[in-house]
Amino acid sequence: MTDNAADLDPALGKLTYDLDRAHVFHSWSAQGALAPFVVAGGHGSEVWDYDGARYLDFSSQLVNMNIGHTHPKVVAAIQKQAAELPMVAPAHANLARGEAAARILAKAGPEFGRVFFTNGGADANENAIRMARLTTGRDKVLSTYRSYHGNTGAAVVATGDWRRVPNEYARGHVHFFGPFLYRTEFWATTPEEESARALHHLERVIVSEGAASIAAILLEGVPGTAGVMIPPPGYLSGVRALCDKHGIVLILDEVMSGFGRTGSWFSWQHPLVNPDGVVPDLITFAKGVNSGYVPAGGVIISESISGAFDDQVFPGGLTYSGHPLAMASIVAAIDAMEEEGIVENAAAIGEDVLGPGLHALAAKHPIIGEVRGVGVFWALDLVQDRETREPVPGATIAALKGELMSRGLLPFVADNRLHVVPPCVITPEEARRGLAIIDEALTALTAG
Ligand code: PLP
Repeated sequence: MTDNAADLDPALGKLTYDLDRAHVFHSWSAQGALAPFVVAGGHGSEVWDYDGARYLDFSSQLVNMNIGHTHPKVVAAIQKQAAELPMVAPAHANLARGEAAARILAKAGPEFGRVFFTNGGADANENAIRMARLTTGRDKVLSTYRSYHGNTGAAVVATGDWRRVPNEYARGHVHFFGPFLYRTEFWATTPEEESARALHHLERVIVSEGAASIAAILLEGVPGTAGVMIPPPGYLSGVRALCDKHGIVLILDEVMSGFGRTGSWFSWQHPLVNPDGVVPDLITFAKGVNSGYVPAGGVIISESISGAFDDQVFPGGLTYSGHPLAMASIVAAIDAMEEEGIVENAAAIGEDVLGPGLHALAAKHPIIGEVRGVGVFWALDLVQDRETREPVPGATIAALKGELMSRGLLPFVADNRLHVVPPCVITPEEARRGLAIIDEALTALTAG
């Protein structure tokens, strides 16, 4: 893909901004005061505006651009598929869909038999929950307070026909605290203590809710938007043991943590995340599977759960399930990630550049309370006081965002945190440049 930054027209930048402000309704925002950043194009780990200003994309947009912007092999695959067959009904067979499912299953491992494709991450979780409920005959779903699983749920309940009846969604959701030593709910002082006490708490919740009423435990492999918290040793295997003991389906949400972000294909395959190597029953994915070039997500289904629907009807579907453009982009993205060693690059960048670099920044800037992460999946927990760990206020995060943008880095911020989540293709030089910008921005922020 050519870098088209040379042909930019600032007037188009103004038109883009004006059209957006006049007509576009944005996610998760009060609309009045918005001033969206205008993106004209991108390549690899960079994006640029219509004035030609370039930014290192340390957000990967919404932590999805794992393969980088405008990867030529993925762009070409979408173009080829568009010319051949841009859309086909989900009931028909289609070569790209079968190939995409086979590629994904090869990464997930032999315990998994089929893939159900969705339009993104939220509907992947909706359908995984539905599968767990239908196969267990139970209702409740347990998930952690510190999590994000998506933004749907009302549409099928609003539906009037039979499809509503097995899918009355917004019921039976129970929350519990997952492990998070830095802000422990359990008065723990070591990762081992945090793990054991979080598991004890979870079992108490299971028993108190009635184990026989619980269909699934839904967990992010590594909770992402909530703060990039790698589970402490023994936690995932402890959850797996509780699921086995009580007949509960374990769903791992790998929407953000999957497809290279941690330096593994899935975070649960990373020895730091899951040293005991336990395997979930269902895996949900989206984002990095094709870096979002075309919206796509899905559920990777264990042989046993998939087999339960050999004779029983699965009451779920989407017009664009397995959309050919999305499928062609998945095949090309996974192949390119493999051929180019992109997952290995993410692991090496984390180990050699981002990990040491972010810890060096913490040694220099007292505002950094904790550095957490692995691969290209990091968070800086910013605090007013290292002793009390009181989070910095929103105004500090807004000011930091301004300092970073003015120096050419597009950040991802959440609550009191700066997440350091560049594409998996980032080069050591780009990663070091990003770290230098964060260093300067933190210096400017705390000097002011
Ligand atoms: N699950 C996780 C872990 C996520 O991070 C997200 C989105 O950020 C979702 C689910 C929802 O995905 P989508 O926005 O594609 O519906």
